[in-house]
Amino acid sequence: MLLRGKTAIVSGGASPRGIGLATARLMAEHGARIAILDIDGGQAAEAAASLGSGHIGAACDVTDPEACKVATAKAIEAFGKIDILCNIAGITQPVKTLEIGPGDWDRILDVNLRGVLYLSQAVIPHMREQRDGSIICMSSVSAQRGGGIFGGPHYSAAKAGVLGLGKAMAREFGPDGIRVNCVTPGLIQTDITGGKLTDEMRIDIIKGIPMSRLGDAKDVAGAYLFLASDLSAYVTGAVIDVNGGMLIHG
Ligand code: NAD
Repeated sequence: MLLRGKTAIVSGGASPRGIGLATARLMAEHGARIAILDIDGGQAAEAAASLGSGHIGAACDVTDPEACKVATAKAIEAFGKIDILCNIAGITQPVKTLEIGPGDWDRILDVNLRGVLYLSQAVIPHMREQRDGSIICMSSVSAQRGGGIFGGPHYSAAKAGVLGLGKAMAREFGPDGIRVNCVTPGLIQTDITGGKLTDEMRIDIIKGIPMSRLGDAKDVAGAYLFLASDLSAYVTGAVIDVNGGMLIHG
C-alpha cells in the first residue's frame, strides 16, 4: 500500500481501456481515494464506481479553466485534500505537417498542453497551502523522437510543450513541497488511436521495440504510482520513459 490515506485527481480517467483508468485503479489498490475527471460526467462517475466505494467522478473539460476549478473544488469537498494530480487527458490525430489546419492545431494543443496548465493551476494553490503534492504530467515518446509513430507533428509539439511546462513548474513549486514530473510512454494499447492503427503498422512498430511488444496501460500506471508515492520523494523535474526500449537515450 504505497498511497494509504492519499487522494488523487486523475484527468482523462473514464476511458475503459485507457491509461487514466488503469492509473486510477492501481492507485486505488494502493489505498488512494480517486476523483476521476473526464469530458462526460456520467462516464467519469461510472469509472469511479468501478474502482469500489469512496471514489468520485466528475465532468471536466480540461480546456476550460472554470471547469477545472469547479471539478477540483468538488474533489476537495469530497476528500478534504488533494495530494496527487495525474494530468492524463489527451487526444491525438494521425496527420502530416501540411495537413494540419488551424482547428486541428488548436484542438490538439488545447487538450494536451493547455489542459495540463489549467488543471495544475486549479490544484496548485491547494497543494501550496498544504506544502505537499505530486503532479504527474502526460507527455509521449513522440515529443522526444519527433513523432513518426501515430500522432502528427502538432501532437509532438504539444507533448514537447508538456515537458517544458512540467519542468518549469517543478522548478517554481519545489520550494512549496510540490513535485512535478512527466511520463513519456511509447505506443500503449488503448483506444486513443480510434481504430486507425492497422495490424501492418503495429507489426512495423514492434520491430523497433527491444522488448518486442506494445505497452499496456498498466505499464504506464506503474510509473505514475512511483511518481505519486513517497518512493520518489526526491524526484522532481524528471521524465520517466515507459517505452519498452523504443527510444534509449545517449
Ligand atoms: P484514451 O483515449 O483511452 O483516454 C484519453 C481520455 O482523455 C479519454 O477518457 C477522453 O475522454 C479524455 N479527454 C479527452 N479530451 C478531454 C478533455 N478536453 N477534458 C477531459 N478529458 C478529456 O487514451 P490513452 O491512450 O489512455 O491516453 C491517455 C494519455 O496518454 C493521453 O494524454 C495520450 O496523449 C497519452 N499517451 C498515450 C499513448 C498511447 O500510445 N496510448 C502514448 C503516449 C502518450
